[in-house]
Amino acid sequence: METNPRTINDLLSQVETKFGGTKTIELIRELGAHPTELDSGAPPEIGPINKDKKIVVVGAGVAGLVLTYELAKRGANVELWEATSKIGGRNRSVRHGETIQETGHPDQICKLPKGGYLNAGPGRISHHHRAVLHYCKHFSLSLKPYQTLNRAALLHRYIPELDRDVIVRNRQVQFDGQGRIGEIAAKLGPWFDIDGPIPADLSEALRDWLHDNFDVHEGTDTEWNYCAKGRQGYSKARGGPNEQGEQEQPLTLEQILGLRLWYDDPRRSPDVIDEQLSMFELEGGNDGLVQALADQIQSALRTNRILKCLKRNEDGTVVLEGLDQEQGLIKTTADRVVLAMQPQAMVDMDLDLPVQTKQALEDLPARFAVKVAGWMNRRFWEDDLAIYGGISFTNMPNEQIWYPNNNFQDVNGGLLVMAYAALHHGEMLGKLPPNERCAAAVELAKRIHPQIEEELNQESLITIAWQNIPHIRSPWVAWTPDRYKRWFHQITEPMGSIAFAGDWCSHLPAWQEGAIRSAYSLLAWAGQ
Ligand SMILES: Cc1cc2nc3c(=O)[nH]c(=O)nc-3n(C[C@H](O)[C@H](O)[C@H](O)COP(=O)(O)OP(=O)(O)OC[C@H]3O[C@@H](n4cnc5c(N)ncnc54)[C@H](O)[C@@H]3O)c2cc1C
Repeated sequence: METNPRTINDLLSQVETKFGGTKTIELIRELGAHPTELDSGAPPEIGPINKDKKIVVVGAGVAGLVLTYELAKRGANVELWEATSKIGGRNRSVRHGETIQETGHPDQICKLPKGGYLNAGPGRISHHHRAVLHYCKHFSLSLKPYQTLNRAALLHRYIPELDRDVIVRNRQVQFDGQGRIGEIAAKLGPWFDIDGPIPADLSEALRDWLHDNFDVHEGTDTEWNYCAKGRQGYSKARGGPNEQGEQEQPLTLEQILGLRLWYDDPRRSPDVIDEQLSMFELEGGNDGLVQALADQIQSALRTNRILKCLKRNEDGTVVLEGLDQEQGLIKTTADRVVLAMQPQAMVDMDLDLPVQTKQALEDLPARFAVKVAGWMNRRFWEDDLAIYGGISFTNMPNEQIWYPNNNFQDVNGGLLVMAYAALHHGEMLGKLPPNERCAAAVELAKRIHPQIEEELNQESLITIAWQNIPHIRSPWVAWTPDRYKRWFHQITEPMGSIAFAGDWCSHLPAWQEGAIRSAYSLLAWAGQ
């Protein structure tokens, strides 16, 4: 007689008895296992393009470039305006001889060694950012692994009360941390009480899980303890027959809590979903993506053309006025206009938009992000600390130190990003003139890596504060729940013949994937 299934296992075994293995596997798939239908990241299918209509896209960042490329490929009459001489917007890799201009500060000329570069904006691509990966594949761009998570990288804590630095490895934080939590969980009970409420097989499974994953064991006295087994690392390395090695002393709960030894910004740790491994970067610089797109749309590109003013006509067309470096003031009429710029870059323009939309633009405040990098003559992080790629985190204003993921053991040295700071630290550092900002970041980074004193090639120092970059003015938009509720729908719906594009018009702000997805969402509308 058939019984009602009570668990998923019951259900699966009933299906298997009745319909066989294939059906069971199908059912498992439906329940969420074996996901096989992954989004390819390709643009959506759209209907025929109306070739009589003129489309103007403003802003040659990732969003504007993708939209223009996909429309041009389908035969649309499209133009792409870009205020500066460079395409790519925030996707920028800075190389020898290039100038970084920041409003209110002296220009910097990049003096990194030839061949070296700083990915000033995007540093990495997530394995589930399918649209970015789609274009990398489409243009045969070469990807290399980017290690966000390096268990050998450091967590640094400056303790102001003691004027002391505490430095531990990521693996200590991770494994001692989870061991201590496992210990607490085991002691709390009633997981292992005989005749307690937990079924014996679950109790057994928990016992195994604590043992296998957390190194938490039951002692002879039935006390549960974290017994570190070496995952936290060795203070003295293992080696030959007489070199047994010494394990790193496990961190105590008091140390972890008292010194706050965890990644305390939940948006910026190697475990947030967009930064989980696998991650990638492009060989030769992450701007390879925007270069590849731009190469395909040369005839549509109008660089050094700044949009100044936009007016809606009653017939639905739109008049754009701009300042073109070669042609001076220009005026053109379009049937569709896509404003693919940051909201902060638009607030001073004379834009004939619905009142609520203008309020939305004004209500999205600028954020802050600063990078400071310099060339080191010796890769001391590899030689002295066995850190090959990845990121160290600190509670000091420089926030993150990025190690290069390429040219390991190169005797010519490598680029060290000594600061990648956001929020109030990014704001504070961004107010300093570039030379003072670099000097401050060097001093902070030296607390973690004193070798910098000796190894830094001083003249290679380079910095960018994105909030100071003309026509960009903010590294990203950070949607708060409040603002999202108030404005998100408003800014992501086309307003007649005008629409916004960019990462801020997506559920992946601050990621190129968001910029591309927002372009995809406008493709059919723009081509009508
Ligand atoms: C520090 C930093 C780190 C980042 N890290 C990553 C990462 O690791 N991975 C990732 O995927 N993403 C990352 N991002 C985000 C990524 O750079 C953006 O999501 C993406 O580049 C945004 O593209 P966009 O087209 O929306 O806008 P933008 O790149 O801002 O492009 C807008 C364009 O509009 C132009 N413009 C402005 N005003 C005018 C005007 N009046 N007339 C004509 N043109 C105008 C600008 O010059 C610019 O070229 C990072 C960004 C920053 C700043």
